[in-house]
Amino acid sequence: MARLGNAGRRATRARARVVAATLRRDAPFSAEELAREVGRGGVGRATVFRTLDLLVSIGALARVHGVERGGRCVRYTPCAPAHHHHIVCRSCGRVEEVDLAGLDVRLAAIARTRGYASLGHTVEIAGICAECREGGA
Ligand SMILES: [Zn+2]
Ligand SMILES: [Zn+2]
Ligand SMILES: [Zn+2]
Repeated sequence: MARLGNAGRRATRARARVVAATLRRDAPFSAEELAREVGRGGVGRATVFRTLDLLVSIGALARVHGVERGGRCVRYTPCAPAHHHHIVCRSCGRVEEVDLAGLDVRLAAIARTRGYASLGHTVEIAGICAECREGGA
């Protein structure tokens, strides 16, 4: 039993380390980047992925599309507590939060007219930001 308790405490500490590492980020990051960072402290990849899933499920993080060496990838972005959406630059990967309250109401209404009890939605606006456009992209 004592051994189980130790394993539990280790898991909790590892998770806390992942959470702390995400809190230090102020720009979108990939699971790989985070795994590399906390991996040096001995935190396993499975813990990183599980903790990221948990943070997404409680709304502290959101998954957004990113670009890496020309290919698509998934990035995580820290989120404000209130419901909102993201606009993502397909060139530099910058993420901004946008409030689309009118859209939220309409999406829920569409679900209702289809006979669904609406549980939520995923909206991401893709674009090229002003800075990237000025850069000639
Ligand atoms: Zn957000
Ligand atoms: Zn940009
Ligand atoms: Zn919404």
